Amino acid sequence: MTRSWSREVVVLGGGLSGLRAASVAAAEGASVTLLEKQDRLGGSSELSAGMYWTAPDLASYRRRIPHGDMRLAGLVIQAYEAGLAEIRASGVHVDAEATPGIMGFGRGYSFDVKSYLKILESRLLRSNGEVRTGVRIRSVASSGPRRFRLEVESTGTRQEIHTDAIILATGGFQASPAQRAAHMPEVGAGILLRSNRGSEGDGLSLAVSLGAAFAGDLGTFYGHLVPHPVANFTPDRFMLYSQYYSNHGILVAADGRRISDESRGDEILNQDLAEVDGMTAFLIFDEEVRSTYGVSEPFANFGRVDRFAFAVEAGARHAKAETLGELVQQLDALGVDAAQLTKTLAGDVEVSSLARRVSRGQPPTVRQLEKLRRQPFYALEVQPAITFTLGGIAVDDSTAVLNSAGERIEGVYAVGADLGGLSNYGYTGGLAPAHITGSVAGRTAARFVSEAHIRPAQRPVADAIKEGETSC
Ligand SMILES: Cc1cc2nc3c(=O)[nH]c(=O)nc-3n(C[C@H](O)[C@H](O)[C@H](O)COP(=O)(O)OP(=O)(O)OC[C@H]3O[C@@H](n4cnc5c(N)ncnc54)[C@H](O)[C@@H]3O)c2cc1C
Repeated sequence: MTRSWSREVVVLGGGLSGLRAASVAAAEGASVTLLEKQDRLGGSSELSAGMYWTAPDLASYRRRIPHGDMRLAGLVIQAYEAGLAEIRASGVHVDAEATPGIMGFGRGYSFDVKSYLKILESRLLRSNGEVRTGVRIRSVASSGPRRFRLEVESTGTRQEIHTDAIILATGGFQASPAQRAAHMPEVGAGILLRSNRGSEGDGLSLAVSLGAAFAGDLGTFYGHLVPHPVANFTPDRFMLYSQYYSNHGILVAADGRRISDESRGDEILNQDLAEVDGMTAFLIFDEEVRSTYGVSEPFANFGRVDRFAFAVEAGARHAKAETLGELVQQLDALGVDAAQLTKTLAGDVEVSSLARRVSRGQPPTVRQLEKLRRQPFYALEVQPAITFTLGGIAVDDSTAVLNSAGERIEGVYAVGADLGGLSNYGYTGGLAPAHITGSVAGRTAARFVSEAHIRPAQRPVADAIKEGETSC
């Protein structure tokens, strides 16, 4: 027999955006259930470096992400300080000093994201919210005693949930090869996953089945270059193996030509390489780069790591030589066109014919290189990895999901990596947007359901402020 139950708000996804949305909605008086597909909460948020960052202002956002959604960017930038203050008020560790220049333009603070996720979970439970893990969504329909009927499955048992509001917080579609093939056909099918495994586009599919429109470029994504080949690419090594410093090197394909302008940053090169046939290239740099950017900590409190050494240990193809001539010879033996590579290192700026990034009017551009100066010289074979997708569900600035006419689909909200267009090829952070959009959705959904039903008096606002559950 199918069990049937009813909740005002159902949140799908137990990462930062979902936990935040659920705890805010519950604190505002809604009856809330958070469903997580995997056996534990946390998603990619739990795997992250814990850097709470975004663009410092709209002008820098626009420069970095010209095709991004300015409304959503305005929302995130405006709510950033309040969001940070709430994390501090929760008592978890937040660095006193800001880290400047994140991804070349952002600023942020490192915080203890794991402890904060636990705090959000306990706030949700204290507000009579409910958490269920290991629950799979089978279907959604807009009918029933409440607005929506969700059919779910847990430990082989089917259940029906009737709800007035659904918050989609499933973390993007990067973990589904089928969804990647459908929405980002230019990205190589075998791209490495640098994310939790549950984010398979369920939020996107569910929103589309309810009439939602897409937003942003679905072919764009956040991630970093990692060694190739790489053994044991497990979550504890995601950051160790990320070649964050590639903007200081030269990235050449097998034809000996560069694929892009390296100075734009590793998260951009990573996307460009995903559209190169074969998805591998050699990152060439000198001792100056290896011993500075190549060992610096990517984020505060991470610690220094020799990324080249770790990559070699992981099994990556590589070369090291006292002269550039010798390096070219070694790369020749590894399949790189030596004659063209010699020209490239001498300043030839012709783009590799293997680079295919022309789909969105952004043909690869390269600029003159700074010379490789200090020996020894290094080459490391790299490949792209996908952390989360940047295109997604269209929302307004209350996180309400929109249809293709730009109208709200009442009672459906999307947050965090499920919404599209805030980052778009350029990247403006994941945790702060997840936290902030989660807050907005939690509040909006709670208001929506309280307008739909006459409920007993709401919890006094002062209580919510004390617990750090309002504003932002
Ligand atoms: C190694 C690494 C380092 C990072 N470092 C940083 C950083 O320092 N700063 C930063 O800003 N960003 C960082 N990020 C990105 C950041 O972690 C993400 O942008 C952010 O976690 C997204 O939060 P979310 O809540 O949208 O998704 P997630 O935290 O991924 O949560 C989504 C959850 O939804 C669940 N789910 C999926 N489908 C369903 C379903 N049908 N029903 C129920 N549950 C479902 C998933 O299992 C998952 O638990 C990093 C990411 C990684 C992997």
